[in-house]
Amino acid sequence: MRNENTQQIVKNLLSRVQCLEDDTSLRHIIHRVVASGPHDEPIHVLDVDTVVYRYTEWIRQMPRVKLYYAIKSNDADAIVETIALLGGGFDCASQAELERVLNLGVPPASIIYAQPSKSVPSLQLSRARGIRTVFDNEFELEKIAQHHPDAELLLRYRYDSTNSKVNLGTKFGCDVGEEARQLLDRARELSLNVVGWCFNVGSMSYDAEVFYGAIRAGRAITDYAASIGFQFRVLDIGGGFVGNKDDNIARYAYHINRALNEFFPDESLEVFAEPGRYLCAAGVTNVARVQGKRYFRSGPKIESVGYYLNDGIYGTFYSTKYRGLESKVLVWKSPSECGPERSSKLFGPTCDGNDWFMANVQLPELDIGDTLVFESEGAYSSVHSCRFNGFPLPKVLAYLRSSTGELLKQVSNLHADSSLINALLLNSEHLKLIGNKLEVLSFEREQ
Ligand SMILES: *Cc1c(COP(=O)(O)O)cnc(C)c1O
Repeated sequence: MRNENTQQIVKNLLSRVQCLEDDTSLRHIIHRVVASGPHDEPIHVLDVDTVVYRYTEWIRQMPRVKLYYAIKSNDADAIVETIALLGGGFDCASQAELERVLNLGVPPASIIYAQPSKSVPSLQLSRARGIRTVFDNEFELEKIAQHHPDAELLLRYRYDSTNSKVNLGTKFGCDVGEEARQLLDRARELSLNVVGWCFNVGSMSYDAEVFYGAIRAGRAITDYAASIGFQFRVLDIGGGFVGNKDDNIARYAYHINRALNEFFPDESLEVFAEPGRYLCAAGVTNVARVQGKRYFRSGPKIESVGYYLNDGIYGTFYSTKYRGLESKVLVWKSPSECGPERSSKLFGPTCDGNDWFMANVQLPELDIGDTLVFESEGAYSSVHSCRFNGFPLPKVLAYLRSSTGELLKQVSNLHADSSLINALLLNSEHLKLIGNKLEVLSFEREQ
């Protein structure tokens, strides 16, 4: 990226975040947000430091693997700008996503159009800007031959995690055997330029070892490709990494680094991944409010309590309801002020009877006006929200510690030289300290 772009990005970013003292805790921020309420909208407290910290941990653990952020997981300006500043690439899957990152000044070489099935206008844009893309079937190859014939292409093959929450292999990816070989043969006939492969093991893959098998499968494909004249030099290992605060990237790095050393030891190969959730999930804490309440009785006995929140499946919680995300609710009140525990159900505000996202949870009895806090809600939350029934979208309040702000300013002066930027991040004492402070949130009254 050019220096003019990075200067502009850091300026925009710093104008949309609130800068805090280095020792400000997340708990303190949540207290401030609650005290400034009541808010109509669900609030997404975005901690930019967490995004920078996680980016840095990735490059520390996997120096060979560049990050191409899957922008669909959370496209908040402050996240996209932060990753662009740090020199990250982007995984886009639509024309609008491509335009968004191109307009920031991200170089086309740092973008993968990771959509196996593309519209013609989006292919024309990719052609005009020289953006790489992917394919997994012969019809797409023919479309590419017509509209983006010089594209650098990646073959997407299927390699599913046995323990992921969202399977992508049922929709995308060719088989690694005969089908992959036939597609490469067809690409050759069409005189296309296939430069490597990609896969996606599925979202929220608790299974880290799957990456070892998936990369090994890429070796056979690379060898076949070489036998018909394609010299593969790009490896894209996709996304699927878990993003909660209590998980870490080291266990994935172990299997990925091992597979790369064993099957692709050539350090000059270009390797990248497309993490979405890993970068954005832990950075967002959701603050919701109880606006209404009812008892569900069986005769005179209270069986359970329903709470109507200002947030539901049309706001933050689509993935909790439909994608197996296990949200954890934290009652923002000291236990001594709450009623006895009861079986509870959390409803969203809309008139849709299906608008609920947690049931049979044991919670102390709450009052109208109380606050509920949900951690690690950054991924696949606000991006799914809509204004159904007229309720407001989640509102992002972004925060940054002052040393992180200084670091980003320094980064913006480094002419987007990624080795200089990475060295600066890896040596930052401030970022190491953040790691020690990423404790799971609990309620405590402020002094
Ligand atoms: C959604 C998606 C990702 C990101 O997945 P995460 O589970 O958020 O890491 C990466 N690559 C592709 C092709 C995707 O569709």
